[in-house]
Amino acid sequence: MSKKVFFLDRDGVINVDHGYIYKPEQFEFIPGVFDACRTITQHGYHIVVVTNQSGIARGYYTERDFAALTSWMTATFADQGVSLLDVYYCPHHATQGFGKYLLDCNCRKPRPGMLLKAAAQHDISLPASIIVGDKTSDMEAGKRAGLRVCYKVSENAASRRTTTEYVSCKRLIDVTTHFFQAHS
Ligand SMILES: [Mg+2]
Ligand SMILES: [Zn+2]
Repeated sequence: MSKKVFFLDRDGVINVDHGYIYKPEQFEFIPGVFDACRTITQHGYHIVVVTNQSGIARGYYTERDFAALTSWMTATFADQGVSLLDVYYCPHHATQGFGKYLLDCNCRKPRPGMLLKAAAQHDISLPASIIVGDKTSDMEAGKRAGLRVCYKVSENAASRRTTTEYVSCKRLIDVTTHFFQAHS
C-alpha cells in the first residue's frame, strides 16, 4: 500500500526561522513539534522534510554543513521517538547562486520537484498526503503536487481559517490537532 505522508517544511515549522542557520546551536525547536510528530506517526502517516536551502547557493554554508545539521536533527527526533522517512533539500537559486547552484531548478518550492521525487522514491500517495509550511511557496508546491490538504503555520494566526488554498494554524501542534479531529 502506498504511504501517506506529512511533508514538513523545516524553517518556520520544525524550528524557529532565524534565517540561514546551519549549526545545532542555532536550531530552536518550536514548542509541540515532537508531540505533533508522534501523533502523525501514531496515525499511520510518515514524515518527510522538504526544505529550500538557498543558503548553500548563496555560499553562506555548504552541503556538508547542511548534512551535519540534518544528522543532528534526525538524531534529536529519534531521541524523541520520531523517525523521519527522509529529508529533501534544494540547494539552488535561480539568480543568487554560485557555480552549479545557480540553477532554475524544479526542486525549489513553489515548484513541486522535491515532493514528486519523494513520491517516486518512497511509493507515496500524494493525494493522501499533507504539507505543512510557513510560506505561500510551500502551499503552492503542495497544490502543484496534488496533495490532499495544505496547512500554513503562522505565530500570529489569530484562529484557524480555511481558504480555498490552505488552512491556517498557529503551529504544527495545532495542525495535527485540527487534522486528526477532522479526519479520524
Ligand atoms: Mg519555511
Ligand atoms: Zn533546486
